[in-house]
Amino acid sequence: SVRVRFCPSPTGNPHVGLVRTALFNWAYARHHGGTLVLRIEDTDVARDSEESYEALLDSLRWLGLDWDEGPEAGGPHEPYRQSRRMDVYADVAGKLLRAGHAYHCYCTAEELEARREAARKAGRPSGYDGACRSLSEAQMAAYEAEGRKPIVRFRMPDEPITFTDLVRGELTFTPENVPDYGIVRANGAPLYTLVNPVDDALMEITHVLRGEDLLSSTPRQIALYRALAEIGVGNGATPAFGHLPYVMGEGNKKLSKRDPQSSLNLYRDRGFLPSGLLNYLALLGWSLAEDRDIFSMAEMVAAFDIGAVNANPARFDLKKAEAINATHIREHLSVEQFIEACQPWLRAPHAPWKPEAYDPAAFAALAPLAQTRVTVLSDITDNVDFLFLDEPVSDEQSWSKAMKPGAEAVLATARERLAAAPEWTAEALKEAVLAAGEEHGLKLGKAQAPVRVAVTGRTVGLPLFESLELLGRERTLARVDAALS
Ligand code: GLU
Repeated sequence: SVRVRFCPSPTGNPHVGLVRTALFNWAYARHHGGTLVLRIEDTDVARDSEESYEALLDSLRWLGLDWDEGPEAGGPHEPYRQSRRMDVYADVAGKLLRAGHAYHCYCTAEELEARREAARKAGRPSGYDGACRSLSEAQMAAYEAEGRKPIVRFRMPDEPITFTDLVRGELTFTPENVPDYGIVRANGAPLYTLVNPVDDALMEITHVLRGEDLLSSTPRQIALYRALAEIGVGNGATPAFGHLPYVMGEGNKKLSKRDPQSSLNLYRDRGFLPSGLLNYLALLGWSLAEDRDIFSMAEMVAAFDIGAVNANPARFDLKKAEAINATHIREHLSVEQFIEACQPWLRAPHAPWKPEAYDPAAFAALAPLAQTRVTVLSDITDNVDFLFLDEPVSDEQSWSKAMKPGAEAVLATARERLAAAPEWTAEALKEAVLAAGEEHGLKLGKAQAPVRVAVTGRTVGLPLFESLELLGRERTLARVDAALS
């Protein structure tokens, strides 16, 4: 059965590239009724942090990307944090050395660099030249006597490595391009190059789906898998590999972790829905159908096919992400769910009004109107703050835009008409402003602009007359009076 893994390193904040990888693995596992393993690759003491680990788990939970084995879930291959598996790696490294699949390499960084430079100048491949591949006991003893501490280097086979990438098709890497590589540092610390395939083997991973940036490590890992099979580590099978396309950001450059646009927290804090964000991230390399941009995760799971992933770089497009999120808010939430989803933004610390000013009934009355207009949930505060703030926000620009010459006179007329409205309903208030406009030879749109800015402080917002109805007669007229004074 299918076993895939998502194996982030807990460094920094989760970013969208990471989430895209998690999503594709999750969808693949769910589509095939397989198992998603969450493994934490925290062997880099200098860069990993507990905070980042917590943030990762929290992000996955928020997104609803559940895992079957891993931290908290447990499973037959515990522990799932590499920092707690050091004895496993030491054991495997020892076995590889004894079987001749790896060797001690005593070259210093300076020596390596000098030889690389010379090879480059001579136009030869500049990877490791195999200097320590077959040292005699005496040579090793001499190096040891000099006080050199060896690293462990994996011995690549001398034949090309060919595999069929699930996204890219058949690929071949020749030995010149894949030199022997380090798997354990001189201080005994195992490297990603060792721990990742060793755990994939032990955890019986069947499919490795990850970013294209890791494509160059795949031939090395395949060679290591074969060696592991020979020494009896894991079940002997090599997983299939699929490399997901690069994600390009601004200026057609690879979206990097440092790019502010790539931070997952940004989307969460702005009030993207998990379903909207995941829908968008799915499109970075995959689509449900030619003309279907909007879909649910259930639909993605039902249709997901790694073979249909596009190998070409995908372009990250914030506008499109927002449009998709807006559609999810509008079409995939009931009004009740929308009200619920907005709550964090209606309360401290997000909300700009006093906590006791928030009125759930008034919000519920406006929610259906707001639901069709917000792009992200955080937009909600600007849309309804006129209801809960003592005074409308004051914004010079909106004010001068709406208060063109003559606008005050219209506003004054509107004040009279509003005050005289037979009842305080959206319908009647609209009639009042319409009539005020007619008196000044203005259409409704022009006539309502100064009313809107006087009452809400803004030039755009929810339908005005419904807003005034909810705000009530007293507060509405007081705000218009304040604007006129
Ligand atoms: N820990 C690695 C990373 O975050 C995993 C790479 C892989 O999927 O093999 O880049």
